[in-house]
Amino acid sequence: MRAKALISQSALTHNLSIVKKLTPGAKVVSMIKANAYGHHLDCIHPLINNSDMLAVSELSEAIKLRAITDRPILLLSGIFSEDELQQAIDLGCHIVVHHTSQIAIVNNTQQMVNIWLKIDTGMHRLGLSANDYKECLPLLKDNPLVEVACIMSHFACADEIEHPMNEAQLNDFQTLTTQTDVRSMANSAAILSQAETTFDFVRPGIMLYGASPFNTPSDQLKPVMKLSAPIVSIKTLQAGESVGYGATWIANIDTTIAIVGIGYGDGYPRHAKNGTPVLINGVLCSLVGRVSMDLICVDIGTTKVNVGDNAILWGDDKLRVETVATYSGTISYELLTGVSSRVEFVQHA
Ligand SMILES: *Cc1c(COP(=O)(O)O)cnc(C)c1O
Repeated sequence: MRAKALISQSALTHNLSIVKKLTPGAKVVSMIKANAYGHHLDCIHPLINNSDMLAVSELSEAIKLRAITDRPILLLSGIFSEDELQQAIDLGCHIVVHHTSQIAIVNNTQQMVNIWLKIDTGMHRLGLSANDYKECLPLLKDNPLVEVACIMSHFACADEIEHPMNEAQLNDFQTLTTQTDVRSMANSAAILSQAETTFDFVRPGIMLYGASPFNTPSDQLKPVMKLSAPIVSIKTLQAGESVGYGATWIANIDTTIAIVGIGYGDGYPRHAKNGTPVLINGVLCSLVGRVSMDLICVDIGTTKVNVGDNAILWGDDKLRVETVATYSGTISYELLTGVSSRVEFVQHA
């Protein structure tokens, strides 16, 4: 008996179809960095097979992805040496170039290389400054071995729809680029809220996995990962008795508690507060006491429960990962990418 993550193939297909519906005419680069946001590369074939391109953060991820597909790969953090450039070219990656040090390496290439040039329009993490961009673009365009396949930028605040930075970044991007450039800007939040950012390629991540970038569940999206774990014990606390490490939760009346076989060692968040919902036999019950490495404790009230029944931690229409994230002071991205290798991953219709 152990924790399981069921990965819904039909939900992946559905969420990708929502991206395509919202961004007609655009090509889709599905973000499958961090092992497909924690969903495991070998469980997400609908995305791999039906996206125009797939994006990973680093070379080690590109190597794993290339082992299972021939589709185009975008390498988001780019390359940092001639050796890495060669590896990326051998893997057939499109390479993001975001720093002037990478331009020097790329411009020395001995073989054809496809690059995506990244401009910093306000995120101030990766990307060339406007001046560096203007200086470097002609150098790259003059090199017959370098194909500037796309110009990209990334939003800092797209999940805050009214944030003034969104418009400022979009304006800067439009000023620096031209209609004839192939362009890419939109992440999930922009796809869902700012149609004018669609351009030629969209870069959805979290929405493909059925979670909303705004951290409140969306009816439009279907959860992909259903995380469940078995009930390994049931006991009744007398009023005044506590449960778990630190004895932080004390029953004020006699209370039936289910002990569920999942904990922070599996990626269930240790910071989940008392009252975080856990779905047991169709009923939303409350987490009580501290989350430990292998176990959590749940107040099941009068719900009928047997040892061996399954509890659902997230990924049901009644209990979305965004809700658990909110109770844990984090975002769905962190919970989904944090499910550990102890959990069994299973593809599901
Ligand atoms: C991860 C990532 C995305 C996707 O972001 P979501 O919020 O998950 O949609 C888009 N663009 C870049 C450059 C990224 O690194």
